[in-house]
Parts: sequence; C-alpha cells; structure tokens
Amino acid sequence: MKVAVIGGGINGIMTAWELARRGCGVDLFEKDRLMSATSRASTKMLHGGLRYLEHGHFGLVREALRERSWWLAQAPELTRPLEILLPIHSGQGRPRWQVAAGIGLYDLLATGTGFRKGRWYTGNEVRDRLPMLESHGLRGAYSYWDGQMDDYRLGLWAAGQAATAGVHIHEGSPVRQVEPESGAIALDGGRISFDRVVNVAGPWAGELIAGSAVASRYRLDLVRGSHLLLKGSIACGCILQVPRERRILFVLPYQGDILLGTTEVRQQNPDRPVPEQSEIDYLLATYNRFFADHRTAADIVDTFAGVRPIVASNDDISAASRDSVIERRQRLVNVFGGKWTTSRSLAIAVADITLQ
Ligand SMILES: Cc1cc2nc3c(=O)[nH]c(=O)nc-3n(C[C@H](O)[C@H](O)[C@H](O)COP(=O)(O)OP(=O)(O)OC[C@H]3O[C@@H](n4cnc5c(N)ncnc54)[C@H](O)[C@@H]3O)c2cc1C
Repeated sequence: MKVAVIGGGINGIMTAWELARRGCGVDLFEKDRLMSATSRASTKMLHGGLRYLEHGHFGLVREALRERSWWLAQAPELTRPLEILLPIHSGQGRPRWQVAAGIGLYDLLATGTGFRKGRWYTGNEVRDRLPMLESHGLRGAYSYWDGQMDDYRLGLWAAGQAATAGVHIHEGSPVRQVEPESGAIALDGGRISFDRVVNVAGPWAGELIAGSAVASRYRLDLVRGSHLLLKGSIACGCILQVPRERRILFVLPYQGDILLGTTEVRQQNPDRPVPEQSEIDYLLATYNRFFADHRTAADIVDTFAGVRPIVASNDDISAASRDSVIERRQRLVNVFGGKWTTSRSLAIAVADITLQ
C-alpha cells in the first residue's frame, strides 16, 4: 500500500516509521525541515505527566510512563532519567498530602517500567541539593523520576530509523491540498495519488483540511508555550507551583544551562511562534519568587516557543479533554494532538486505522 504522511515532526516521523515497518511504501512530506516546529520546542521531558493525575487521566499517564521507558531503552545517548523535586512551602501551593498522594500514584502506575521511586527530602536535604532555593517556609520536597531528552536529536534519530525502514523523506515539500476521495495530494510540482494520506501536520493539521474544504468533527485550539534557557546549572529538576495559579513551571538542568518553562498563551496562527516579552517577564518573575539567585534578561542564553495543538470538538464538548484524536475520512486519516512521549503508541494506533 502506498501512503503519504504529511508532517515531519515527531508524530509524522513515528507514523511513517510504523507504516514502513508494516510493509507500506511511505513518502513523508515536510514543508520545512524535519523536526523544525513544535517537536523541538518542548520541555524535553519524556514523562507520564504528573499533572494529568489531577484530572483523572490515569490511562493516559500509564501509557506515557511505559513509552518513556521505551525511549530511554532505544536511545540512551540522547535520553536520561532525571530526578525532579517538588518543594513544599508552608501555606502555599497544593497541600503536602495531595503531592504525596500524586507522586505515590505516579510511582504505582510506573511499576515495572524500571524507573526509581520518589522520596521525601527534609528542608535541610533540599537546601543541600538546591542551595539557591528560597528557604523561607520550606518544609521539604517530594521527589520523583522522569525522563529527559534532546528532543531535536532524538527526533532526527527516529527519522534515521524510518529512512532505514524504507521511508522516502521529502523536506521543503509543502502539501497544499488533500483529496480524501481519490487519495491525491497537491504539491507545488503537481498532484500525486496514494492509497492513503495521513495528515500529521501538528498545529497545522486543521489548516490543511480547511484549505482543502474537507469537513471535520474536530478543530484545534492553539496554545503557545515559551521557554527560557538561563546561564548556570542546577543539580536536579524542580517544579515550582505558581502562586495564585494552578499552573506549574519546570526548572531543569539542560545541556549545561537551566531550562525554565512554560507558559500558556492562545495563538491564532501556528507559524513561527516566539515568546512575548510578557511571557519572559512572567517566567523570570516566577523563578525569582522561588530562587535567591535572582535572574535578569542578561542571564538568558536562548528563548524558544512552540504551539500546542489542543483538540476541541465541533459537536462534542467532552472530546476537548482528549490528548489526541484520529479521524478517518475515506482515504484520509487526520491526526489531531498527541504528546512527544506517546508518539510511538499514537503511531501504532494511526497505522491500525490507516490500514483498515
Ligand atoms: C511548549 C510545549 C512543551 C511541550 N513539552 C512536552 C514535553 O516535555 N514532553 C512531551 O511529551 N510533550 C511535550 N509537548 C507536546 C509535544 O511537543 C507535541 O505534542 C509534539 O511535538 C507534536 O508533534 P507533531 O509532530 O504533531 O507536530 P510538529 O512537531 O509541529 O510537526 C508538524 C510538522 O508538520 C509540518 N507541516 C505542517 N503543515 C504541512 C504541510 N501542509 N505540508 C507539509 N508539512 C507540513 C510542519 O512544518 C511541522 O514540521 C510540548 C508542547 C509544547 C508546545
């Protein structure tokens, strides 16, 4: 079967690889360069998503925890386990019992995945590990373990595996339109027909089908997330509970610097997202609220932003809580949403539906 996969982010790459593994002739079309969009602007975590437990998404967390181990086993040179501390301050953030219950459940769901379990650190132990953390009201910290990756290089590694499995990769090849009935795609050089077309264009997936006058039950809400890379180092990861918000920020050691993120700002257009000054100010102010080594713009080594494609439904509000949705329209398969960590399991599900 001849399949066109549209989108050279991690979800498109993994889908192309999976289809090639199942014997399909696969052409992957990327309008820009591989791994040039959302998939290289992540928080670099291979994680189950501790926060999803608050929303009761236990199945999703369990699946992501399994997938996290798969990535670490496949590419140990581009991934590593990372300990993350969640400090507890008196009278601030979630109550201690709730954090303990959440981390306990996270570890339980991770049973058998080969990761170390979290533990409680006393205030003095936390001060030893994170001496710059504000110690006023600090009661201690719960720790847990997750995976960290070099998202860009890990995605290119996966693309290499896909190419070895036979995927033909076409960079600089924007797909202008798709035709669900015929399986044709329109490129700048003309039309090509396939048995199946898989639209894995991430935040652009909705734009592609709208531009092709293809109806869909789903639409995407686009939410920008920005990060700062700061000079310096930190001994382990740390989660900050943003005061007066339910949001959290990650402060992570990353390739010799400190990675700080992220934000949530609605965005109309997915093209070339950049952090706004207000997001940079918000990130620095939150860091400075918790750490004594106050940071300014002079400490910023780099900034980057990505756009989350959040699945919303035109006719079913409950679908808005789903992490990803796969929709089949004749020869066309649309993929909406999906996390980096679970890109392989999503690809398996996409291949099942594509080959039906
Ligand atoms: C701020 C932020 C932090 C995140 N952190 C994490 C994290 O730590 N861990 C985690 O698991 N997940 C994380 N995620 C989620 C994860 O990064 C994304 O869900 C994932 O990268 C999406 O991959 P994708 O392949 O669907 O999209 P993309 O990476 O955006 O790829 C889509 C590709 O399609 C191409 N394209 C678009 N239109 C066309 C067209 N018409 N023709 C050809 N090509 C086209 C684009 O150029 C692009 O390369 C984060 C997301 C954000 C925004």
